[in-house]
Amino acid sequence: MRGEIVHLHIGQAGVQLGNAAWELYLLEHGIQPDGYLSKGAHQTPGLEAFFAETARGRYVPRSVFVDLDYGPIDEVRSGRFHGLFHPDQLISGQEDAANNYARGYYTIGRQVIDNVMERVRHITEDCSSLQGFMVFHSFGGGTGSGFGALLLERIAAEFHKQSKLEFAIYPAPQVSTAVVEPYNAVLGTHGTIQSTDCSFLLDNEAVYDICKRRLDIPRPSYENLNRIIAQLASAITSSIRFDGMLNVDLNEFQTNLVPFPRLHYPLVAYAPIYSRQAVLHEMLRVNDLTAQCFDPGNQMVKCNPQSSRYMAVALLYRGDVTASECNSAVAALRQRGTVNFVDWCPTGFKIGINSQKPYTVPDGDLGAVDRSCCLLANTTAIADAWSRLGWKFDLMFKKRAFVHWYVGEGMEEGEFQEAREDVAALEKDYRVVDNDDVFEAEEFEV
Ligand code: GDP
Repeated sequence: MRGEIVHLHIGQAGVQLGNAAWELYLLEHGIQPDGYLSKGAHQTPGLEAFFAETARGRYVPRSVFVDLDYGPIDEVRSGRFHGLFHPDQLISGQEDAANNYARGYYTIGRQVIDNVMERVRHITEDCSSLQGFMVFHSFGGGTGSGFGALLLERIAAEFHKQSKLEFAIYPAPQVSTAVVEPYNAVLGTHGTIQSTDCSFLLDNEAVYDICKRRLDIPRPSYENLNRIIAQLASAITSSIRFDGMLNVDLNEFQTNLVPFPRLHYPLVAYAPIYSRQAVLHEMLRVNDLTAQCFDPGNQMVKCNPQSSRYMAVALLYRGDVTASECNSAVAALRQRGTVNFVDWCPTGFKIGINSQKPYTVPDGDLGAVDRSCCLLANTTAIADAWSRLGWKFDLMFKKRAFVHWYVGEGMEEGEFQEAREDVAALEKDYRVVDNDDVFEAEEFEV
């Protein structure tokens, strides 16, 4: 029996990412949008990790969708997957969070939290060996950041033994929807850092550029971005759902990737990312896929690992891949000196191989391939993301701009300072790790 994972989709970004992720999972498991197995499809051994089977043989995703606003959930209710979810799994409020963390955490969010927790408990009671939660939300939105922090806090208190993984959309100027996103993101990071075990940051700007440059989409939409992110969620969880000769279990890669509890924000990269036309001309050797994962153009956060150091690296391969191909790809990386590890963790490679090949949605942009590689790298370069965020926060906070909206919802101004200091400390923790002399001398905060 493989442990079950419950997906939680929060706020507009979380809900829309949920649509993309479940669209892909259905395809991978041969399930139709109404929840029944497609004709000729077989029940895969790991199906129950993500789906509960009803007495009538229908598969229901182990997930809850929540938005304080009505719109995004309503689209799920009336959309292509309306028959897939139990109506109680789709929870919407009447009043949105108005891009305000404090509304998501303190006021409007409190009106729905008990209902959401009740639904989460109901779903977990149906699990025989609950392994953990995957939480999808944005850091920039009011619901994503505020309600996300509130929900994760409650989940961590009630399910402290289970893993809490987070897929967090990091705000980006081109695709941003509100000027206060840096506030929400700093408050949201502070509000979730203790409750999550591992967080995958998805910088909308990086994913947007991938769509433009790699897939030739002139003006990428959220749907384009979300379908790439869905591939990552699928790659990271394929070992739970499918067999493999070197399956890396969720707990196992977390143990390898997170050397200190706070430094749990691995950089994610993925290969191959080719359009349907371009993929026809590519060789897609394991060596190439592996090298592409270390190309900044395939990374989900804009930062520069080449000039920083790695604490740990997990390479999750899927499809038609052998262990010896993976080993020689890693040997080539070592030889080229691509991956520069910190001195205290010199051999931090973890390899996973899952035999299930990646799927792509039929009307999507990604070309179909027989193999793929997903890189999860705990690198000190991710500190750049925190410093960019902190800088934008400081610009507004110096003038106390927009702060009254938060105070008006019952938040104290001191929480801004506390959150900002926490993010500054996180950035410093990464910089300290990068500098061995300081690392040895300093008392390290864990
Ligand atoms: P919330 O509903 O209050 O949590 O607000 P949103 O989830 O809309 O948060 C706004 C942030 O999320 C902005 O940075 C948006 O660019 C981003 N965002 C909104 N929807 C999506 C989406 O479907 N995909 C992605 N990748 N980002 C989104």
